[in-house]
Amino acid sequence: MHQRQSRLVPSRLAAALTTLLLVSMLAACGSTTATNSSSSTAQAATGATMIAATAAPTMSTATTAATMMAVDTTTSGATMAATMSAATSAATMMAATDTATSGAMMAATSASTGKKIKVVTTVAPLTNIVRNVGGDRIDLHGIIPDGTDSHTFEPAPSDAQVLAAADLILVNGLHLESPTEKMANANKQPNVEMVRFGDNTITQNDWIFDFSFPKDKGDPNPHLWMNVQYAMHYAEVARDALIKTDPANKDYYTQNATTFLAKLKQLDDGIATSVQTIPAGQRKLVTYHDSWAYFARRYGMTVIGAIQPSDFAEPSPKDVASMVDQLKAEHVPALFGSEVFPSKVLDEIGKEAGVKYIDTLRDDDPPGKAGDPNHTYIGMILSDMQAMIPALGGNIDALKSLDPADSYAKN
Ligand SMILES: [Zn+2]
Repeated sequence: MHQRQSRLVPSRLAAALTTLLLVSMLAACGSTTATNSSSSTAQAATGATMIAATAAPTMSTATTAATMMAVDTTTSGATMAATMSAATSAATMMAATDTATSGAMMAATSASTGKKIKVVTTVAPLTNIVRNVGGDRIDLHGIIPDGTDSHTFEPAPSDAQVLAAADLILVNGLHLESPTEKMANANKQPNVEMVRFGDNTITQNDWIFDFSFPKDKGDPNPHLWMNVQYAMHYAEVARDALIKTDPANKDYYTQNATTFLAKLKQLDDGIATSVQTIPAGQRKLVTYHDSWAYFARRYGMTVIGAIQPSDFAEPSPKDVASMVDQLKAEHVPALFGSEVFPSKVLDEIGKEAGVKYIDTLRDDDPPGKAGDPNHTYIGMILSDMQAMIPALGGNIDALKSLDPADSYAKN
């Protein structure tokens, strides 16, 4: 395969989310276009990042405890929490706790400090995995807001204070959150561990370099969690890290992990079965955002290509034409875009090639809103399967009985 740089033209649509990334793999004729820089450059603060950056400074060190409480909540919840004063935040936290559970909450706190441990994570799916293990006995703060492009995310200055107060920091690794890791290293307490899920799950031999993450850039595809087997390992890593940090709650974390792992196993098995219902020749993915590499390897699908126009640019007419030809030659039944990266060009390619265009895939943005039963890691993967499997000619009967809601014990 050879690589060629795509020509770009300015987009008036201001797709506006990241740096340009056009990738079109032409497996049939052996040519690949791959320009990637989304994870290696931080140019172009995205619209969503701008929002995050402007919202975050409303939180201060003094309100860290309150801020922690706001995890998994809506922006307004976070803002409310952040407005609490330092003097009242602890008391408010207790007051906000159901009185019936406050006794259990007290018992659940760390033996050494008398407080819940503060755990900091990054992208929403990982935050939810940690939530399902740590339950309500941890103060959990996901730094990267829902719906934000995690690849170009730059933490806000106020995140330094959140990281400084952390008892445990859990990140994906594989170069996904480099700016956040850098800030963590500069601000965390010396005895606090930063655990990288990805690096604890696979070795470099298993890294995938591909369309959006070419080897010459050095940044592997980081989306390990889209493979549920890897997500199960993430849950185990979270369990072990929480127990090490807060041994007083070992039994609670262990039980939650066991429950959650059983559900993830059900999800993993259900996806494997569902993919088998897709006609063999149609187990192919052409996506906008390149987040399906490890999923495909696990479940026997092939990622034919990924396109990611951004940074006010779109693929050239020639590249669009090549993609249309490829889709026709490969008999790919559907094209997939994602919530976080809306794209018009994929829609046009789909129409020209006569294939369905579905723009609801998610890899770091669980569906619904905080508190919804499906606003979870499992809910996100189920939503993806609902969008993907039937569009490729299969069915998801094997996943119908799976409850996406959080499963941790509430006490
Ligand atoms: Zn991604």
